[in-house]
Amino acid sequence: MNYKQREAWILERHLFWCERIEQHGLRSHGEHFESGLRSQRPDVALDSNLRSWAGQFHRRAKTCTYAVLYAFKLGNAYDETIAHEVCHAYQRYYLRGCKSHGDMFFYLLRVVCGFDGAKRTHADWDRGVLTAIKLSYDIVKLKGSE
Ligand SMILES: [Zn+2]
Repeated sequence: MNYKQREAWILERHLFWCERIEQHGLRSHGEHFESGLRSQRPDVALDSNLRSWAGQFHRRAKTCTYAVLYAFKLGNAYDETIAHEVCHAYQRYYLRGCKSHGDMFFYLLRVVCGFDGAKRTHADWDRGVLTAIKLSYDIVKLKGSE
């Protein structure tokens, strides 16, 4: 997958995980809950710079921002990062005031999204892959790759 295709893939997977969680809300809590969940659906932003984070959820802007270079390096394994950020967007609607990486969050990521063994927090992912990106890629070339 080239860079542009990877960007398109991120947008597609972002929507996929949003719909997955909204559908789960509909099945487990009914239509009223689902429409509330829908109001939490996050916007998406792509960041092409070399970042110290793979993905971020900005609560006030209600936006998931994805650092595309990580997706480019990780390939389909980056899907977990996408699901991770999307879970952040919805978790507080399920349980007000819950911890950012608490039980509610891992319920959504492991049970609803199916990342069984997910225990990664931002730092684990980010540091390792960031090092790999720095070592193995010429960023300018990468961005220009077709
Ligand atoms: Zn997180």
